[in-house]
Amino acid sequence: MEENPIDRVPINMSSPDLTSREREAVASVLDTRWLSMGPQEKSFEAAVKEYIGSRHAIAVNSGTAGLHLCIRAAGIRDGDWALTTPFSFVASANVLLYERAAPIFVDVDKKTGNIDPALVAEAAADLKAGGSSAQKWLPRRGVSKTGQLRAILTVDVFGQPADYDQISEIAAENELDLIEDSCEALGSSYKGRLAGKFGRASAFAFYPNKQITTGEGGIVITEDDDWSATIRSLRNQGRAPGDTWLTHTRLGYNYRLNELSAALGVVQMSRLDAMIEKREQIAAWYSEELGSIPGVELPWVSADTTRMSWFVYVVRFEPSIDRNRIADALKEQGIPSRPYFLPIHLQPYMVERFGYQDGDFPVTEDLGRRGLALPFSSVMSQDEVQRVAEAIRNALARV
Ligand SMILES: *Cc1c(COP(=O)(O)O)cnc(C)c1O
Repeated sequence: MEENPIDRVPINMSSPDLTSREREAVASVLDTRWLSMGPQEKSFEAAVKEYIGSRHAIAVNSGTAGLHLCIRAAGIRDGDWALTTPFSFVASANVLLYERAAPIFVDVDKKTGNIDPALVAEAAADLKAGGSSAQKWLPRRGVSKTGQLRAILTVDVFGQPADYDQISEIAAENELDLIEDSCEALGSSYKGRLAGKFGRASAFAFYPNKQITTGEGGIVITEDDDWSATIRSLRNQGRAPGDTWLTHTRLGYNYRLNELSAALGVVQMSRLDAMIEKREQIAAWYSEELGSIPGVELPWVSADTTRMSWFVYVVRFEPSIDRNRIADALKEQGIPSRPYFLPIHLQPYMVERFGYQDGDFPVTEDLGRRGLALPFSSVMSQDEVQRVAEAIRNALARV
């Protein structure tokens, strides 16, 4: 009798990669008095700093918190504009909204899904000029029409760095701060340089589906001494060096990373390269299995991406295939998957506030309609990859 696929061991959408070393590291924190603001936080920051080769690394309790502090450090505020991408996880746009600044979206490259440098250049010139030339880049409502363009916020989508030669030049020419959301790209490199090194500040994230995890967590990278000091103060309730526990120099937050999480992060960092290699292997298995299936487009890796630290494995179906029906057919076979990304500008609160409509960012919307993230983690087996591929072939035959 044939085995019912649903009865097999379930395949997870993602999974952390944990060993006895992580377990011991976390347990040993419980034997100390330091559950926050202790030696593990320092060790974790040192490990990331060394890996990235950055001057500063400031641990925080989520990637979103890290990005928010980059925006605060840049002094971006009410009425300011920042160029960014609608093809991302919502956090990259939300951190601007937290400061009442406006994300000004430009569309993305259809191969990589990363922000399109030609559009960034055009928009930056028009927005800097202001007046009527600026208007075509602004949403229909909800933003100051006389704002000031302050920054470019790039996202290294699915682990692939944006096109930094061009974007850094545009930022420099227009005197804009470049902030890099590298939350999906720990360990990736662009023309031999690691993601996280391109922004004046950048953030990594350590939610359980990322390349490494601290449960929840993030870290900010910067070369800038002033920004580093500001970010350290902001994550710790606005205390500045010399402040007592109840003195607060500025309006801050509790964005600190606890010691249990930091201890987990120290061990995960020591295993990062090995885990990236496993992710590479799994992506290669997927590409081998799926490469010859008509109607399925494999993820595109640019020649400029000298190392791809795979965050997710996202395929695209050709336009005549209904991606949602494929996802349903996979689910019936016990295989999870996720539409990825749903464009930010079409999220309900964005539509309500800014009046965005279908058609505003056609490339983003096309990728959003056709992309499907498949189960992916560094603990997947070849057998599991084959089961997913088989389920995709079955789904395509049915729909
Ligand atoms: C994961 C992620 C973040 C931050 O996520 P947190 O859950 O806050 O750690 C930000 N931007 C992108 C693109 C992400 O993928």
